[in-house]
Amino acid sequence: DVILSIQDLTAEVEDAAILKGVNLEVRAGEIHAIMGRNGSGKSTLSKVLAGHPAYRVTGGSITYKGQDLLALEPEERSQAGVFLAFQYPLEIPGVSNLDFLRVAVNARRKAAGQEELDAFDFQELVEARLDVVKMNPDFLGRGVNEGFSGGEKKRNEILQMALLEPSLAILDETDSGLDIDALRIVSDGVNQLTNADNATILITHYQRLLDYIKPDFVHVMAEGRIIRTGGPELALELEETGYEWVDQALAGAA
Ligand code: ADP
Ligand code: MG
Ligand code: MG
Repeated sequence: DVILSIQDLTAEVEDAAILKGVNLEVRAGEIHAIMGRNGSGKSTLSKVLAGHPAYRVTGGSITYKGQDLLALEPEERSQAGVFLAFQYPLEIPGVSNLDFLRVAVNARRKAAGQEELDAFDFQELVEARLDVVKMNPDFLGRGVNEGFSGGEKKRNEILQMALLEPSLAILDETDSGLDIDALRIVSDGVNQLTNADNATILITHYQRLLDYIKPDFVHVMAEGRIIRTGGPELALELEETGYEWVDQALAGAA
């Protein structure tokens, strides 16, 4: 089953063309890694998938589970099972993490025609899922990401993911700034949550994360396009050779 199909996608931000023809197909059960230098357009792609208003799609299409993703509002995308974990997670002081998570989970349940969870049932569900990220329950009472360390914010994202059970999870540089312990916890979480019905896109600059999460496909992005696709060995090759060959490939294509 195809979960996500991106065809000839072009997009701009502040009138500058950033995505210049992205093609990508993601099937259920697959993990895709998107690698590439800083500024190659990786985060722009994730923001377009999320429906961020600053990013304007100028051409191409995105189909998610058979429907036109671009026709959906950002909230509708999330309710339909698209989950975005951003490079810089949002802080929402004054809103407890527990309340925030409950609102998000209930919106998703409602959209799926399921009954909403009351505070007691939700508390039970959260406590069962805290284990996935080995998170201290104290974090539930604090403001969303308020004063969380980098590693705690990332764990919190994985907790959100464990609760929302997305069909498509997109993790943008979830590994940046993580020490080895946090990296392992986040990776374990992703590995536990991956199954035959969902798909994951991991956006990462380094191959380190891929020591812990085995991708089925590795894509290299440069200047707003996916210029190469391979298996896990491509990530190892990139680590050895760096991104120099990308410049040569681009120069050769010009
Ligand atoms: P990556 O995630 O691969 O590092 P980005 O998608 O963040 O790349 O950035 C791609 C290009 O788009 C960069 O040149 C960046 O400066 C530009 N860009 C991204 N977001 C904005 C924005 N909000 N305003 C202006 N330029 C942007
Ligand atoms: Mg960047
Ligand atoms: Mg980025």
